[in-house]
Amino acid sequence: MRWASAATALTPFHEAFLPRLGAALADAVKEYPIIWMQHSACSGCSVSVINTIHPSIKNVILDQILPGHQLFLNYHSTLMAAAGHLSTDAAMETARKHKGKYVFIVEGAIPTRDGGIDGTLGEEDGKPVTMLEWMRRLAPGAMAILAVGTCAAYGGISAAAPNPTESKGVRDVLRMLSINVPVINIPGCPCHPDWFIGTVARVLLYGIPPAKDLDEHGRLKIYFAKTVHNRCIFRDYLDDGVFASKFGEVGCMMELGCKGPFTHADCPIRQWNSGVNWCINASAPCIGCTEPGFPDAHSPLYQRR
Ligand code: SF4
Ligand code: SF4
Repeated sequence: MRWASAATALTPFHEAFLPRLGAALADAVKEYPIIWMQHSACSGCSVSVINTIHPSIKNVILDQILPGHQLFLNYHSTLMAAAGHLSTDAAMETARKHKGKYVFIVEGAIPTRDGGIDGTLGEEDGKPVTMLEWMRRLAPGAMAILAVGTCAAYGGISAAAPNPTESKGVRDVLRMLSINVPVINIPGCPCHPDWFIGTVARVLLYGIPPAKDLDEHGRLKIYFAKTVHNRCIFRDYLDDGVFASKFGEVGCMMELGCKGPFTHADCPIRQWNSGVNWCINASAPCIGCTEPGFPDAHSPLYQRR
């Protein structure tokens, strides 16, 4: 509105109005600094999100993700050109300058054994800085934390038995460190780009989601309220008692260990790779990658529970 009124005031054009327009423009665009830190993970969630098609990752990072809302990805160790101190200083500078206003995105679980010594990122005075320490430094000042992928949300594969590094998901680590910041879990192995972009847009437009919009595991209900089984393309086969007994056979894959009945995600309607295909349509049972307890609670993956 301020931008519109300033622009209207420019008729007839006069140089005296330029500073006013500039200030109004600056006010009109809300800026959101982002720190995206990768902990104990395979980077698959970063790769998945970078592959977003609508909008493209270029639009997400360089343009206004929503009219009047501009993200500033100030730290992402894989995407940024800087390395070493230059990069980690950027993370610390963002946290210092934008206290209470930056979004902290965590990918991967956090090793906690022996003060977190099994997972380190960067050095200070010749000593490694643990991922646990980065959580201690960056989590308290964040406006919100987005735990991207199942490892960050619940521990996932990084915390699978015997879990020698005692890795944990973000919420467990925050509890351990007595840090109280809102966390939204965006699980998946990897996280679907739409789930990530949609959650970011939701936070920018309406703020931190109230409890009623999240399920018991901290996931946005718009993506995770229903099970894969609810909307599966093979439900008819299940109802008719037609089961696949080997991979590639047409039929419900329950006998091949499908975890769709207790896995919450909208994969059947959203699909993957921009709507090209998804697990069950490619004759692979759902392995329950969005659920707490994955993979241990679902193993063996290809046997009926
Ligand atoms: S294939 Fe899996 S998700 Fe689909 S109907 Fe069978 S058990 Fe349910
Ligand atoms: S169908 Fe199941 S295993 Fe595949 S992506 Fe969706 S939740 Fe994960």
